[in-house]
Amino acid sequence: MSTTFTMLKPDAIANGYMGAILDHIIKAGFKIKAMKYTRLTAERAGEFYAVHKERPFYNDLVKYMSSGPIVAAILEKDNAVEDFRKTIGATDPAKAEAGTIRKLYAKSIEANAVHGSDSDENAAIESSFFFSMTERF
Ligand code: GDP
Repeated sequence: MSTTFTMLKPDAIANGYMGAILDHIIKAGFKIKAMKYTRLTAERAGEFYAVHKERPFYNDLVKYMSSGPIVAAILEKDNAVEDFRKTIGATDPAKAEAGTIRKLYAKSIEANAVHGSDSDENAAIESSFFFSMTERF
């Protein structure tokens, strides 16, 4: 078993997709190890996405990710990182495969409904950004 980290982003919550996306994730075989309904300040969003600091969309991304509540969660499954990336689909929902979360629930490349870690190493870093060990089940 391995784990990955996800966020249901502000557009997903604002558009009323929180329940549908969690249902999709659970039905895809992921077990929820930790979960939190919270909101990032601009400073915390900037820290989370620090790797994108030089990208032209960084400031917009930070503003968007701190614009409303999110759900942060740690998910467990075998091959969790890769399988979850397949479950969410491409970054740009227009390019995401049919049936993926981004194809079903996202409207734009920025407001793309959900985050999924891109490596085991980042999954561990991102999980620790939101959760202490005692908050994991
Ligand atoms: P991910 O791993 O699929 O989430 O994609 P990236 O790590 O490349 O980008 C992180 C996040 O930045 C994405 O999920 C989007 O919310 C946002 N993003 C990525 N590319 C663009 C872009 O070209 N324009 C804008 N406005 N946002 C982007």
